[in-house]
Amino acid sequence: MKSNKNFLINQYISDKKLKITHNYLQKQFSDIESIIIEIRNLVDRGDFTLGIKVQEFEEKICKRTSAKFCVAVGSGTDAITLGLKACGIGYGDEVITTPYTFFGTIGGIKNSGAEPIFADICDDFNINPDEIRKKITNKTKAIVPVHWSGLICNMAEIKMIAQEYGLRIIEDACHCIDATLDGIHAGLFGDIGCFSLHPLKNLNVWGDGGYIITNDENLYDKLLLLRNHGQINRNEIEIIGHNSRLDSIQAIVAINIIENHLDKITKARRKNANNLNELLIEYENEGYLSLPRSPKNKMHVYHLYCLKVNNYRNEMLNFLIENGIDAKIHYPIPIHLQKPFQNKYKKGDMPVAELLSQRELSLPVHEFLSENDLNYIVDKIKVFFNSI
Ligand SMILES: *Cc1c(COP(=O)(O)O)cnc(C)c1O
Repeated sequence: MKSNKNFLINQYISDKKLKITHNYLQKQFSDIESIIIEIRNLVDRGDFTLGIKVQEFEEKICKRTSAKFCVAVGSGTDAITLGLKACGIGYGDEVITTPYTFFGTIGGIKNSGAEPIFADICDDFNINPDEIRKKITNKTKAIVPVHWSGLICNMAEIKMIAQEYGLRIIEDACHCIDATLDGIHAGLFGDIGCFSLHPLKNLNVWGDGGYIITNDENLYDKLLLLRNHGQINRNEIEIIGHNSRLDSIQAIVAINIIENHLDKITKARRKNANNLNELLIEYENEGYLSLPRSPKNKMHVYHLYCLKVNNYRNEMLNFLIENGIDAKIHYPIPIHLQKPFQNKYKKGDMPVAELLSQRELSLPVHEFLSENDLNYIVDKIKVFFNSI
């Protein structure tokens, strides 16, 4: 086997040229002994699928979010698919969502059988409720808002629209672990909240995983069936389901992080983002940059620290990388302009998403950055702006 089409094969191998990385995984898991002991115990018990560790994880999530119910599943994408299906949404239905997201949102909708319909975003990268209204047809059944980068959408407006038109809300809260609006955790504004445990999320495991939260017991009952073949007992199925279970091994990793690290992760990201905002404010005042802001009633968890660079974004990206700073673009092509949608949408259809995809630049914001790292990043940005 010579040809290698796995373009992600080196994604976690550290690039020695990069001084300040986006990826922090080697540091995060430098002490794994307590996890390994738990996994050894699990192997002794043979408790590999949907056993006590998965339940313990679900209980911890309920406690942390104040959700009544949690269902651990195979991925964040599956969480969206199962969430829609639990609400009875599928073939022939339309689901309104944002073009400014990771592909998993769209794959999750498509996998339910429903058709994603895009509505443009606001200046804070989140879906614009006025644009949602324009996209409603008699086929519309749900809204999937994505809480981009760690900041919850305008849920008061979105809930009003949903009530007015009888739509379900399935929140893509994959960026919003620990995030709140008026003290309420992301994922609890609509019918169902969807989260991912992918290694690069704020609560992360050693592979794929996801979870769903809801306060609706009927939806909870359906989700339990949907993730496990629709089985109501060993011999009977109630509905056609999926195989989408969180691995017990991953539940152990997640429990360990919730117990020992998650508070620190959230706190450090917020602190780093606030420090960057303070250090970069002069560039905002001079019109070079816009900084990520969060209104007082929203707790932003900075899964991403997204700047808007008004001019020379790509030049700034290259300059930072040349100087060892792992800046990234999330993302350069909004989904409505991706190949699968080329017959339905064209350039100019989503002007705000298209503009922000030209301006967005993410700086590292993870919990292992030191004050020196932040100062180094800001110094290089200063050098860049002095050079243009
Ligand atoms: C990561 C992510 C997903 C998909 O999660 P997976 O666990 O990779 O399937 C969906 N939506 C958003 C916004 C994400 O960031």
